[in-house]
Amino acid sequence: MKLLEGKNAIITGGSRGIGKGIAQVFAQHGANVAFTYNSSAESAEALAKELSGMGVKAKAYKSNAASFSEAQELVDEVVKEFGSIDILVNNAGITKDNLLMRMSEEDFDRVIEVNLKSIFNMTKAAQRTFLKQRSGSIINMSSVVGVTGNAGQANYAASKAGIIGFSKSMAQELGSRNIRTNVIAPGFIETEMTEKLDEKTVQGWRDAIPLKRGGSPEDIANACVFLGSDLSSYITGQIIHVDGGMHT
Ligand code: NAP
Repeated sequence: MKLLEGKNAIITGGSRGIGKGIAQVFAQHGANVAFTYNSSAESAEALAKELSGMGVKAKAYKSNAASFSEAQELVDEVVKEFGSIDILVNNAGITKDNLLMRMSEEDFDRVIEVNLKSIFNMTKAAQRTFLKQRSGSIINMSSVVGVTGNAGQANYAASKAGIIGFSKSMAQELGSRNIRTNVIAPGFIETEMTEKLDEKTVQGWRDAIPLKRGGSPEDIANACVFLGSDLSSYITGQIIHVDGGMHT
């Protein structure tokens, strides 16, 4: 069953990892997909081609989610090209890990700008379209670390916790216009990036997870399909933990 037939989605950070998985699964469910990237132009164009081959409309946009004006321009272009926006997935994110003692001001600011301010930028830019339509589903990518904290990730954890506060506020502000805002908190998700890590370390992480495996981008994408579809039409302001039971 195609759960997103005819819906238009914007996904930030779709060129690789989880965002790419969301774009692929959204297209399988019939959604038209506009996705952004920061620098991976080649893989972004390859993905746009792959998605178009699945019979949906798909386009890659180079757009820095941390830039207020670029977010505005992106949304304007997508609305012009796709006609409407039904789902906004704020997925783009970075890490710059260090113990506080060694964390520079620059690394703190950059992580907050890319991970948290981007969500303000994109929500603000898409808000007018959602209000006019009187519908919309916003899905914000937090992390288990945004709920629990993590030594060596104060900047990242603060940005991911901030996403939760922002999303719950949007659920209250925009709910009366049928605009829903929910959060996904992934645990340990295995991507190309984690393939490069030491296998023994990764196995240790897997063993500590109740479901005894790392998650896949598809695991996150499936939760996004639910939140983007009409199956979740009475759900807003929630955090869905997609983490194999890591946070219980
Ligand atoms: P990833 O593989 O590093 O991919 C990040 C994506 O974001 C790429 O498409 C990248 O584009 C894009 N991006 C980075 N900076 C950007 C910017 N300023 N503007 C627009 N796009 C930008 O990361 P991931 O593991 O898939 O993670 C995706 C999201 O899930 C992040 O928010 C992350 O914090 C969250 N998360 C991940 C895990 C995990 O275990 N992987 C766990 C919890 C939460 P380029 O390719 O062009 O650089």
